Amino acid sequence: MAVEALGKPAGVTCDHVRQGKGCGIYDRRPNACRTFECVWLMDEEMPHRFRPDQTKVVLDQDAKGQWLIARCDPGNPQAWRRAPMYAALKGRARDTWGSGKIVLATAGRRAWLITPGEDIDLGEVDLSAGLRVTERADGSVAVEAGRA
Ligand code: SF4
Repeated sequence: MAVEALGKPAGVTCDHVRQGKGCGIYDRRPNACRTFECVWLMDEEMPHRFRPDQTKVVLDQDAKGQWLIARCDPGNPQAWRRAPMYAALKGRARDTWGSGKIVLATAGRRAWLITPGEDIDLGEVDLSAGLRVTERADGSVAVEAGRA
């Protein structure tokens, strides 16, 4: 995720990450880092098996709650496709498709749109530029995204 206070763009590792240890400036980390809560933390009913260190996926939402984003550890870019995460993402896509809500997976700058049918590889995109998702009459899906 982008951290404005650090000038850190989305999709790149923070300079303060200490591999295997965590945040190298934990006591003076920016407010955005202090206050961030992933969906697993926010939802008390979400089982332990969805905890990010188990799945290698941080579940995140946009500010309006319209996007559910499965942000994968770049070392495990396909982590969103593994059980139990994939079934949960697909279920959410089925439940919300057509309502304006969408389900995405990301690894670094690469993103996928998860639909009730196919999963669409969007390539490297700038999600902060927004996404326009349209379902055509034949059921296929068109996506316009800002390029990274
Ligand atoms: S918590 Fe620490 S390592 Fe993580 S983004 Fe914030 S400053 Fe960087």
